[in-house]
Amino acid sequence: MSTVRQALTALDRDAAGRSMMDLAAGLYPIPRSLTGDGVRETLDRIARRIPLQVHELPTGTQVLDWTVPREWNPRQAWIRGPSGRRVVDLADHNLHLVGYSVPVHRTMRLDELRPHLHSLSEQPDLIPYRTSYYEETWGFCLPHRLLESLPDGEYEVFVDASLEDGSMTWGECLLPGSSAEEVLISSHVCHPQLANDNLSGIAVAVHLAEALAAVPERRYSYRFLFAPGAIGAIAWLARNRDRLDSFRHGLIAANLGDGGGFHYKRSRYGEHEIDRAVVAALAGLGEDLVTEDFFPFGYDERQYCSPGFDLPVGVLTRTPWGRYPEYHTSADDLSFIGAEALAGSLAAYLATAAALEERLGAPAPPPVAAEGGRKSGGGRRYRNLEPFGEPQLGRRGLYGGLGGAGRKEFEIAMLWVLNQSDGEHSLDDIAERSGLPPGVVGEAADALREAGLLEELA
Ligand code: ZN
Repeated sequence: MSTVRQALTALDRDAAGRSMMDLAAGLYPIPRSLTGDGVRETLDRIARRIPLQVHELPTGTQVLDWTVPREWNPRQAWIRGPSGRRVVDLADHNLHLVGYSVPVHRTMRLDELRPHLHSLSEQPDLIPYRTSYYEETWGFCLPHRLLESLPDGEYEVFVDASLEDGSMTWGECLLPGSSAEEVLISSHVCHPQLANDNLSGIAVAVHLAEALAAVPERRYSYRFLFAPGAIGAIAWLARNRDRLDSFRHGLIAANLGDGGGFHYKRSRYGEHEIDRAVVAALAGLGEDLVTEDFFPFGYDERQYCSPGFDLPVGVLTRTPWGRYPEYHTSADDLSFIGAEALAGSLAAYLATAAALEERLGAPAPPPVAAEGGRKSGGGRRYRNLEPFGEPQLGRRGLYGGLGGAGRKEFEIAMLWVLNQSDGEHSLDDIAERSGLPPGVVGEAADALREAGLLEELA
């Protein structure tokens, strides 16, 4: 197989599907988080298959507007009920412990414990996935049915975890091509015991790297990034800022093992070469593809496609995050993903690489005005003063505070305003493109300006 196209034709889908399921099954029980030994063990397993360079960035390192957090390693966590029996135990499922829980060992009444317990009343048999990376607390997640059955009385709560200075870990696999121009495949590696989000993405990325490594005639260099969500991509961008001129195309790989059809979220440009290559590739495979325009939240495209970097990065998935009931619950287990779906996803990525190699999506337009190229239709215009990656809004009291009606909409409006305030788009344009009420967009802009994140343009 001398070309990527030939590798696609020769792909043994049955064998690849089985191999991806094996990899996912091996990774499934590892307690991953933003940092810690779970990420290292995950990368160790990936490194058994593909050449991987592992990076450690110390706690406290400044990366763009963010700081590398302390390293978290859970050891034991359980709740012992009035009967003396453990009613919730981390040893049974990694989702039982809220990610980044601080240590605690106390006895408390159920009503005191209750605010630390998280469940899903609409899906009473499932364990939800919760984290608290940037606010020091502890908590447990459990099925609602179990929560409702807990009798009053005294509960012993034990969380043995270390949260201390250490480092954040990520891995990169670079497959050099005849050109230094790079294609980035980015997968997050921070989810504990969840299969579709995100082991399916890791499994497809690893097998894509294996398949491409076996192709001698590759024009592009391919870089595979396995990093914790948000802060990992931010750190990578911060460390690679001076070499981004070789960046050509990027895809975020996640949600690739469920039974749904393919979905593509376009880059911020909308019609960049990568966007056209994905469409051409899926059509070539005879696969249906639903496409959606860029929006500034989701996975790490929110970092890559921030206005300062504005890299052409799309998200090729099956069912997108948040749009299947198993998402971020214990039902996203190994039975939710399948070998056939994974193999189809691998073929889709390989076909996209083949399309890029053959320049099926070319020529790329110059990197100017965002998708649609629509200019200001009037109204105030701003410039984002922290355009490289997402500014950390939580630290400024703008994000993740108390919920309430309209709060989520306000947060999303801030992300839109930050992403689109490149001098080209007015608040009217942003309201129109996002579909958000102009009043909310205006409020978001006011809050961001007060926080020093925006300047108004004449
Ligand atoms: Zn997720």
